[in-house]
Amino acid sequence: MTSSTRPDRAEFDRYHTPNYNPAPFVPVRGQGSRVWDQAGRDYIDLFGGIAVTSLGHAHPRLVAALQDQASQLWHLSNAFTNEPALELARMLVERTFADRVYFCSSGLEANEAAFKLARRHAHNQGQPQKTKLIAARNAFHGRSLFTVSVGGTPAYAEGFGPLPGDIVHVPYDDISALEACIDDQTCAVILEPIQGEGGVRPPSPGYLAAVRALCDRHGALLILDEVQSGAGRTGTLYAYMHQNLRPDILTTAKGIGGGFPLGAMLCTETVGQSLVAGTHGSTYGGNPLACRVGCEVLKVFEDEKVLEGIPERSAALRAGLETLGQELGIFKEVRGQGMLLGAELVPELAGRARDAMQAAHAGGVLAWLAGANVVRLAPPLNIPMADIEEAIQRLRAAWSGLRG
Ligand SMILES: *Cc1c(COP(=O)(O)O)cnc(C)c1O
Repeated sequence: MTSSTRPDRAEFDRYHTPNYNPAPFVPVRGQGSRVWDQAGRDYIDLFGGIAVTSLGHAHPRLVAALQDQASQLWHLSNAFTNEPALELARMLVERTFADRVYFCSSGLEANEAAFKLARRHAHNQGQPQKTKLIAARNAFHGRSLFTVSVGGTPAYAEGFGPLPGDIVHVPYDDISALEACIDDQTCAVILEPIQGEGGVRPPSPGYLAAVRALCDRHGALLILDEVQSGAGRTGTLYAYMHQNLRPDILTTAKGIGGGFPLGAMLCTETVGQSLVAGTHGSTYGGNPLACRVGCEVLKVFEDEKVLEGIPERSAALRAGLETLGQELGIFKEVRGQGMLLGAELVPELAGRARDAMQAAHAGGVLAWLAGANVVRLAPPLNIPMADIEEAIQRLRAAWSGLRG
């Protein structure tokens, strides 16, 4: 073959490292919550590229912002600041608990910065022995060696050792386990407000507030990984806002860039002051293209009242899934918050989330999984109600054979 022929899915297996297993079709175009593949087949996107395309594909305002920025300035490095980064930092500070913002390009980088900062902060406070990080089992924080070690899925770190030390895992949503583990050597507790990869698990009411209190008692920082739950996904700009608490550090990526690689670590003034000049950095952090899109995502959220529309959409999607679960006898439980939903398969279908996902694809709906037993949906926050309805119809047909 020559480089001028149209590449197809088979080339993935020929040229890529085999760490992914992409679907058999290749999407080529998207518009709103629809995607088309090379063969012209259309799919309703209930997946959002893993909770990333928060405003769907090719939102006209994001396209215009990116095109305008593309004709002005793409990249500078952090030897200079730039207007989109200045504006986005101000917007994030004005809308959250945070006083300070560090930009990067992905979720793992935001977490890497957060975990390093937690240790560095203790060091700067004259407590260099305070290095213990406590995280949850089944947590996901990214795939760098540090973030994968903090994440609570040992299989993801297997074979990559030696791993960074003084990281302890406790069961999620178990306050007595945390209480037994946290001590004055603990620099931070890291949690997702809702576990995403770990099965779309919201904790019991009051759990996060109790964690906050334990952190305060032991002088540990509370780091909330909102890479998946943030940027409007659960119906508030960040999931912590549903509750009466503030983290010390929050990480955001995925949906904040609407599909353009963008991440950020948000923190309080005191904590942020420990990241003194020269302690951390990233060539692409605060990239003008990324930050310009990030600003536009937040502006569209507000101008188009996107978050106000989430309860109605969430309820429709959840009701649709529950109906399918009953009609077809396939789901034990539908859970989640806002536009982050997980449908856990009945015991008879244990381990078959991948089959359910593939059936959805074949039936014209993009879906995803969270572990072997949970189908995960994270559609665009502004998905039209009619697309939710049609997706449920398509899923009814697609999943009718699952138990056959
Ligand atoms: C996806 C995810 C990450 C990692 O983000 P990347 O952009 O893939 O590095 C970290 N934490 C959570 C909660 C995530 O869902």
